[in-house]
Amino acid sequence: MIKIKKIDHVAIAVRNTDESLAKFQSVLGLSVGEREVVASQKTEATLLPIGETSIELIEPKGNEGLARYLDKKGPGIHHIAIEVEGIENALAALKAAGVRLVDQEPRLGARGHKVAFLHPEATGGILIELVEPSH
Ligand code: ZN
Repeated sequence: MIKIKKIDHVAIAVRNTDESLAKFQSVLGLSVGEREVVASQKTEATLLPIGETSIELIEPKGNEGLARYLDKKGPGIHHIAIEVEGIENALAALKAAGVRLVDQEPRLGARGHKVAFLHPEATGGILIELVEPSH
């Protein structure tokens, strides 16, 4: 069984963080939480907290997959991240159930959290990220 806690963030692919940020700030009045270049993912991630969850703007900083995604589909919702308890166990359970994964093992994501992506095929086209906070 996977222990799901909440939606951690909804990630939006953007070409220019500053421009997108200005829109989210003026339209919704959101303020910036953390903003960091995530070396392991070659992206810049900017979190806009909303209650217990966040919108995350992600801009490619050498991430070719994300750059291709933007060229093909344009800016928009890129993935949904779900917080789980025990990400290793969650991955093992999904693997045992035959679910297609992008990451077989967790890797280090933004804020030092452990993250792993499911293949979009597993959910009919939506990229899902599992997150376990570092605390
Ligand atoms: Zn994410």
